Amino acid sequence: MSSPEPALLALDFDGVLCDGRPEYFATTCLAYRELWPEIGCGAHLDAFRDAFYAWRPAVAHGWEMPLLLHGLVTGALTDAEPVSTHTWGTHRPTLLAESRSTPAELGGLVDGVRDDWIERDLPDWLGHHNFYPGVVPRLQTWLAQGSPQLAILTTKAGRFVQQLFEAADVDFPTTWIWGREAGRPKVTLLAELVAQGHAPLWFVEDYRPTLDRVTQTPGLETVCLFLATWGYNTPAAAAELGTIQPLTLNHWHLDLKDWRTPAASPASAPAPPSHCRGR
Ligand SMILES: [Mg+2]
Repeated sequence: MSSPEPALLALDFDGVLCDGRPEYFATTCLAYRELWPEIGCGAHLDAFRDAFYAWRPAVAHGWEMPLLLHGLVTGALTDAEPVSTHTWGTHRPTLLAESRSTPAELGGLVDGVRDDWIERDLPDWLGHHNFYPGVVPRLQTWLAQGSPQLAILTTKAGRFVQQLFEAADVDFPTTWIWGREAGRPKVTLLAELVAQGHAPLWFVEDYRPTLDRVTQTPGLETVCLFLATWGYNTPAAAAELGTIQPLTLNHWHLDLKDWRTPAASPASAPAPPSHCRGR
């Protein structure tokens, strides 16, 4: 018999709980000016904000952000190309080579300018983030009642997530936040949680390739998967979802047992998938 609610609800952070695009863009500009000062310090980078937001769904990791901006500034990326992870993947190696940096170095650069910004002006940094409507009260309710157990799986450094929760008055246990410092992809973390006996386990993510990877990973068949359609993705990402279920922002106001029904979802929302059986 399938359980209607999760024992453990694993959530991505950026694009699921929090809209951090203004912060991402500002941090990226700071990093870009250090990486390519001869271009970045003279260019009017704000002119590329809308294009950066449009391309954001195609990008998985923070280290890619300065490369994305460089692609836009130099014209390597244009409006004529479809925004997709595939298109971005065809440009990324060239842009990475031009940076003369490794992904780890770029990640360190992005985190470094972010740390400097936080130290310089924490309120300003916090003000560049917006939790999506309904998220904070719902998290506070779940945390207060102690059920379901919540976990954050994010490619962002965990210390930044802690800062944002703290500012939003969300008392989230740090031991249940797995950030980039965990050094393991989300599929591995999910497999560990499954092995620890957390079931039913639900996972909400806005980056479609990550969800697809979970569906292709043996042993994770019982994990119930949800696509956050309000996050950093494109309409194409919500097509042909298969066993992945779409969520809208309205779901934050529904009982968890109703997340697996078509209520408040597009008419095409699939019935509870067979691979998501719970235990
Ligand atoms: Mg995300």
